Amino acid sequence: MSLLKADYRFEKITDITAADLKSAGAKLVLLDADNTLSLHGSQEPACGVPEWIEEIKKEGFSLVIISNNSKSRIKPFAEKLGLPFVFKSAKPLPKGFKKASEKSGFGPGETAVIGDQIFTDVLGGKIFGAKVFLTEPLGPETDFFIKIKRKFEKFIR
Ligand SMILES: [Mg+2]
Repeated sequence: MSLLKADYRFEKITDITAADLKSAGAKLVLLDADNTLSLHGSQEPACGVPEWIEEIKKEGFSLVIISNNSKSRIKPFAEKLGLPFVFKSAKPLPKGFKKASEKSGFGPGETAVIGDQIFTDVLGGKIFGAKVFLTEPLGPETDFFIKIKRKFEKFIR
C-alpha cells in the first residue's frame, strides 16, 4: 500500500515551495502535465503555473515534464513553458522516469515527482524511488479509462 501513498499532499502545484522540494532532497522535479500543470489536454497552463516554474528554476532545480499523453499534446505545451519533456512515458512503469532522470543526470534519490494521479504519478514515482507530491486534479477527467481509475482512487485517497 505504501507504493500508493504520496510523501506529500498539496491542493495545487503552485502551493509547493522550493523549500518543500529541498526538504524532500530533490534537485530534479518531474512534472505531470494533465490536471497538474493545466486542465486535461489544454495548452493553457493553469493560473500561476508559468511564474511558479520560473521561480523553481531560479532556485536551481531541474524541471522535466513527464506525461503519458501524446507528442502532439506535450511538445508544444512543454516548449511554451521552456521545459524538456518525455511524452508517452508509460507511467507507472519506470522507463519514462529513467529517461527523464538521464536527461538531467540526477538519480531517483534526488528526484521529486509532482502529479495528480495515484496509479500513474504516485505509484510510478514510488517504484522509481523518488519522493512524490500528490496534488488535487485541476479539473474533471474526460478520458473514460481515467474516470474508472478515479473511482478506485476514491478508496485510497
Ligand atoms: Mg495528470
